[in-house]
Amino acid sequence: TRALRLTRWGGPPTLTESTRSVPTGEEVLIEVEAAGICRSDLHVIDARDGVLPYRLPFTLGHEVAGRVVERGPEAAGPTIGERVVVYGPWGCGTCARCAAGAENYCDRRTALDADGVGTGAGLGRNGGMADLMLVPSKRLLVPVGDLAAAQAAPLSDAGLTAYHAVASVRSALGDDPCACVVILGVGGLGHLAVQILRATTNAQVLAVDVRAEALALAGECGAHFATLLRPDTAAVLRGRTGGVGAAAVLDFVGNGSTMELAAGVLRAGGELAVVGSGGGQLVIRKPGALPPGTRVSLPFWGTRPELEAVVALARAGSLRVRVEEFPLSGAAEAIARLRSEAVRGRAVLVP
Ligand code: NAD
Ligand code: ZN
Ligand code: ZN
Repeated sequence: TRALRLTRWGGPPTLTESTRSVPTGEEVLIEVEAAGICRSDLHVIDARDGVLPYRLPFTLGHEVAGRVVERGPEAAGPTIGERVVVYGPWGCGTCARCAAGAENYCDRRTALDADGVGTGAGLGRNGGMADLMLVPSKRLLVPVGDLAAAQAAPLSDAGLTAYHAVASVRSALGDDPCACVVILGVGGLGHLAVQILRATTNAQVLAVDVRAEALALAGECGAHFATLLRPDTAAVLRGRTGGVGAAAVLDFVGNGSTMELAAGVLRAGGELAVVGSGGGQLVIRKPGALPPGTRVSLPFWGTRPELEAVVALARAGSLRVRVEEFPLSGAAEAIARLRSEAVRGRAVLVP
């Protein structure tokens, strides 16, 4: 069977043939139906040796949907043939956080990293850009029913991370019927964040991107206003908030320009969630660039119950992923397209 393996830092990843693995213990073998490509995959491929606590080689793909085809002897539960998405952050499975389904914030993460265990599917451990994928336990599977695979796969990261980020700023929205939320970057994660905000809050959604087609996508997803990043964007956005400033900013880029913009548009007592790993820096200082009362969070992925909620939203028709499909054999082309900022929504590999 085929798998897209990262064999050396800097890449490129290569499509290799190997024999089919047999699930042992609690493991479950999934026949992959779709695997999304995230900008984080580019960050991983491009990482220099020693930067990430992962051992090479491993199979990429942390956004996976498929069908259960085989179970280990101790894997009671998922029925053969059941269609699932894989909950991607894999913690120790036993600490208090993991027991609550928040493996993204596993209490043993530091120890796992020190042992080079990997963060989860496709991030140091074998992921789903492959024909088959071995999942350590059924606790990491969420049923999706008859949701199309190319829709389901992106929910497990783009959808889940966007949902968790929205949850992290929800308290700042309060009951204010015209609270404004600014979305920076309307790509794979951002276009789902716009839809999640529209489906679950009353917020006015203001979107910013550097590409005109991303602004069009924001509009299709329900954003009330969308504008290109320009030197005067902070003033334009503040104008849209009636001069008050935004209750929350979700930064799906995380570079210097977007963090500076975030500081310039937040109202006092607002929330900034930095999701993107764009390498930008923001100085925390009182008084400083951020308005008084600002809360800053660095949300990472999401919890298993949140993934169930995202799947439910999608099955109810409140969430639709804009997808560009590629065959697994066309992974290099898909990755190049993401690199050149040409993807609209999410690129998904379909074996
Ligand atoms: P993407 O490439 O699909 O989307 C990024 C969008 O940002 C694009 O539309 C791009 O045009 C836009 N953009 C780029 N520079 C911009 C700027 N200066 N101002 C405004 N818009 C700009 O990427 P994605 O897969 O949605 O991932 C977004 C980021 O989130 C990446 O850095 C990724 O690594 C990170 N990420 C974080 C988590 C987490 O748990 N924290 C999870 C997944 C992805
Ligand atoms: Zn990702
Ligand atoms: Zn744990």
